[in-house]
Amino acid sequence: MAEPRKKIYLKNYINGTFYEPINEGYINNYNPSIGELYAYTPDSGEDDVKLAVKSAKMAFPAWSKMPIENRSRILMRIADLIEQNMDALSAAETEDTGKPLNLSSTVDIPRSAANFRFFANAINLFASESHKMPDAINYTLRQPLGVVGCISPWNLPLYLFTWKIAPALAMGNCVVAKPSEVTPHTAYLFSRICQQAGLPNGVLNVIHGSGHLAGKAIVEHPDVKAISFTGGTQTGRTIAAITAPMFKKTSLELGGKNPNIIFADCDFDEALNTTVQSSFRNQGQICLCGSRIYVQQEIYDRFKTEFMAKTYMLKVGDPRDHDTNVGAVVSEAHFNKVMHYINLAKEEGGEVLVGGNQVKLKGRCENGWFIHPTIIEGLPINCRTNQEEIFGPVVTIQPFETEEEALELANQTEFGLAATIWTQDISKAHRVAEKIDAGIVWVNCWMKRDLRTPFGGMKNSGLGREGGLEALRFFTEAKNVCVKY
Ligand code: NAD
Repeated sequence: MAEPRKKIYLKNYINGTFYEPINEGYINNYNPSIGELYAYTPDSGEDDVKLAVKSAKMAFPAWSKMPIENRSRILMRIADLIEQNMDALSAAETEDTGKPLNLSSTVDIPRSAANFRFFANAINLFASESHKMPDAINYTLRQPLGVVGCISPWNLPLYLFTWKIAPALAMGNCVVAKPSEVTPHTAYLFSRICQQAGLPNGVLNVIHGSGHLAGKAIVEHPDVKAISFTGGTQTGRTIAAITAPMFKKTSLELGGKNPNIIFADCDFDEALNTTVQSSFRNQGQICLCGSRIYVQQEIYDRFKTEFMAKTYMLKVGDPRDHDTNVGAVVSEAHFNKVMHYINLAKEEGGEVLVGGNQVKLKGRCENGWFIHPTIIEGLPINCRTNQEEIFGPVVTIQPFETEEEALELANQTEFGLAATIWTQDISKAHRVAEKIDAGIVWVNCWMKRDLRTPFGGMKNSGLGREGGLEALRFFTEAKNVCVKY
């Protein structure tokens, strides 16, 4: 009989050293594709956070004064090391999340390296403003804030963790970061990479643990000057209630319920193939996935039939298999949540056109949490299925007649993160893009990302923008100096 595999114990990274949590408590960490416990994550508390903040404060003077070229060089080295460890990081990401290896190795981990490379370059070009008056000149200093907190979710673990940490470090801040307790593994490997890259001790501290203990302690700590958070809308609200009276800079990237509007004059095949991706990539667990599909009446039946056929063809399988399209959802709790919503959709009168069921695989993944990609038809806009974020492989589909109706449907939720528009009519594309309530609009494409662009949501999808200069500015305090001559 095969020996049971040894479980991994992850550690906190504080002041350049790896520590067990002070309270010695751990959280079980499961591999969702086999339904098995495989690692233990520190269940850190306030004391661990206090140590991390102290070490970050100590590191701040030297790090913030380091010449930009030197800081940039260290960040580049981190990017190189992420690339050199591509296989190990991709395997860990897949084990932790259940996402196909062909996704971790082509999207998650390459993008994590790209985040570091992008901000390492960006600080070399960053400039602040100056405003001339007849007898004086104003210039704006963009000074680092000090110690900042970065808190990230489970759906794109290393990708979003590094998306926050890289600009914060680039601008000379020191960071206390917490990955999701559901998917902590690559953040742990990443802290080893930072040590290897020669990042000075204390500049980055990675604290593992739950949101209500470790996360809350980071948010509440008076010496943490800003919070950059990505996660659910309710958590964002809880965090904002703490940071607002403390006047902490706060960036919130929250949930979505994104519309995908397909006009009759679209490039049909392109719209169809991309819609399969935008619906079910990463098991629908991307905040940018389009979960409400609106198709113009003239092409509705054809689109629906072909979309159903392509969805049937998706291979739900072992995330390690190279031809798997859909892996496991991230946890048993999330599996139950998504299945609950599918049942709710039926109660609300929806008809399940495809999927709606658990997929039981054979062999290695027989105990994994897999859900068949699901399409639901016949639901009104105001029902819970169409209003609440499900964050799984579940979409609704509905016809519309006119541009006005499409816009009305698209904007009728409390969210405003992303939207996709499919049309060959350039004027219509611009018109709809302008009127839609979303921070990110894609026309005839999806998930095309230029890291220089502002990224974030409106309404209940967030506050502030990440990306490019927006991120660099967020991690600074602007100080105007007026000099009379
Ligand atoms: P979550 O809000 O449960 O947790 C996110 C992070 O916050 C985790 O690290 C968690 O431990 C921590 N946390 C939880 N409670 C906290 C508290 N009270 N104080 C401080 N930290 C706390 O979200 P999740 O389930 O991990 O992620 C899924 C959500 O993230 C979805 O709603 C999705 O739309 C959203 N998301 C948004 C974006 C975006 O860019 N807008 C990107 C990815 C995911």
